[in-house]
Amino acid sequence: MQRYFADIEDHRAILSKEDAHHLRDVVRIRVSEEVEIVAQDGAYLCRVSSLNPLVIEEIAKIAEKRELENPLTIAWSLLKGENNDWIVMKGTELGVTTFLPFLSKRTILKAQAGEEDNRLLRMRKIAKESSQQCRREKIPEVAAYRKYTDVIDDSYDVKLFAYEELTGHGLSIPEALKGHKAGESILLVIGPEGGFTPEEAESAKQNGFALVSLGRRILRAETAAVYGASLISAWSEEQ
Ligand code: SAH
Repeated sequence: MQRYFADIEDHRAILSKEDAHHLRDVVRIRVSEEVEIVAQDGAYLCRVSSLNPLVIEEIAKIAEKRELENPLTIAWSLLKGENNDWIVMKGTELGVTTFLPFLSKRTILKAQAGEEDNRLLRMRKIAKESSQQCRREKIPEVAAYRKYTDVIDDSYDVKLFAYEELTGHGLSIPEALKGHKAGESILLVIGPEGGFTPEEAESAKQNGFALVSLGRRILRAETAAVYGASLISAWSEEQ
């Protein structure tokens, strides 16, 4: 069944222009067919009662649970090409709550902290579309670019720093999560194509991060982000 994020007012769904076009002209929905609408307070089963104008009426609230037990933030050094989009798309499917692209010493792309460029707007669009596709209740936030030094300063219950120098040895993510519980917020930080500088790793340590290994091989940054998110997601769903 099709699923859209929209407001519900007076028991009727108010779709964006884009989604209304999608439902009518791409999906070619017919009168009396059902759709799912995700509003601020949860998902609703609805029925199309007219196409022109488009009227979608609420039938019942849907009880579901699709979000992770732990708010999960993935922070990564802004990457070249479409790799950022890929992290947002796959991370959304895995339950990531917040995406935080940052600028560190070896970040290749030139961008300013706080800048809201087309690349960022595209990532937000992908987060919305991907949430609809995988039926999430909430669209993850894609935060504006920040400086690495600000990101590591933030407070979370669990702070993990994926450090390539630990490849093949060092603490794994499941080991680092032992003893933690549902509800605790988790941050995972991933470095740029060229890796972190030793000073960046040191200041992460001093800011309360556990330095973790992602296994025996050096992963590309986008793979590292998605693999790390997968391990945390799997752990969180067991809590
Ligand atoms: N160019 C670097 C690798 C950078 S990989 C080198 O050759 O050493 C990009 C990022 O992915 C790293 O900064 C780290 O955060 C993460 N990463 C990749 N493989 C990893 C591993 N095996 N363990 C921990 N982190 C890893």
